[in-house]
Amino acid sequence: MGNLIDGKAVAAKIKEEIKNEVKGFMIKPCLAVIQVGDDEASNVYIGAKEKACNEVGIYFKHLKYDVNVLEKEIVNKIIELNNDEYVNGILLQLPIPGNLNEQRIINHITSGKDVDGLNDLNAGRLTNNKDGMVPCTAAGIIRLLEEYEVPMEGANVVIVGRSKLVGRPLVSLFLKNNATVTVCHSKTKNLSEITNKADILVVATGSKWLIGKNDVKEGAVVIDVGVTRVEGKIYGDVNTDEVKKVASLITPSTGGVGPMTVAMLLSNVIKSYNKMNK
Ligand code: NAP
Repeated sequence: MGNLIDGKAVAAKIKEEIKNEVKGFMIKPCLAVIQVGDDEASNVYIGAKEKACNEVGIYFKHLKYDVNVLEKEIVNKIIELNNDEYVNGILLQLPIPGNLNEQRIINHITSGKDVDGLNDLNAGRLTNNKDGMVPCTAAGIIRLLEEYEVPMEGANVVIVGRSKLVGRPLVSLFLKNNATVTVCHSKTKNLSEITNKADILVVATGSKWLIGKNDVKEGAVVIDVGVTRVEGKIYGDVNTDEVKKVASLITPSTGGVGPMTVAMLLSNVIKSYNKMNK
């Protein structure tokens, strides 16, 4: 394995813990996933979530709508799921067709069941250092760093990407861990100069091999979030073969962050279940 971070193994450990916890529950937890249309990548991601739920004993409810569905119909379903005492997690699989207002729909999910942590209430709670649902990929990255005992306090962290899914929640999570955080994006000047100062570099852009060995400081920890599909092959934002020669630790483009995202989703469902059943 060398200096590769094994996200698959850490995710398997988390899933095992969840499976054991669920065995002690009277009622099976339930995750409801809302899909609009038939996006190929979404089908793959939903399949992975269903498989993971089955593995740990979480009931998986898949609600699939035609692309022409009205926003009102989805919102009415969300309200129904919010009021269903047997549903612990609700998520809207993204992307959805452009005629639907993504954030407006997500904001109808009650914050306790918002297991993607994407509604405005949960985003605000995270920014203000309050307890809430944390977006799964960001939470998974912090968990990986903890598992590999990477010191975050005082570390120079550079995050490339400022999305509400990854970059923004990570800012709050790294600050909570007393790191010094710099955020870069598509308008950042002299990107390589900045990434070269990082003790921990997180790249979440969806730009194939944006980061090569000349962009990384010797001994840095590199977390590659990006997923780009080219002719059926998956590429990360980091040229792993090159960068692993200079990094002290690095996630592979598959089997790194991806499995952690799913594991943290399951963890959020259990968090909601425990709150609803205490
Ligand atoms: P997003 O919403 O499209 O955001 C991409 C961010 O990257 C934006 O902030 C953008 O800057 C920045 N960016 C794009 N090209 C850049 C460049 N050349 N230089 C510097 N910054 C650049 O994407 P996302 O949802 O955060 O996802 C990012 C990637 O991670 C995607 O490939 C996605 O598939 C992947 N992902 C993987 C997982 C997983 O579990 N493995 C989970 C989530 C996402 P602007 O803000 O200026 O546009």
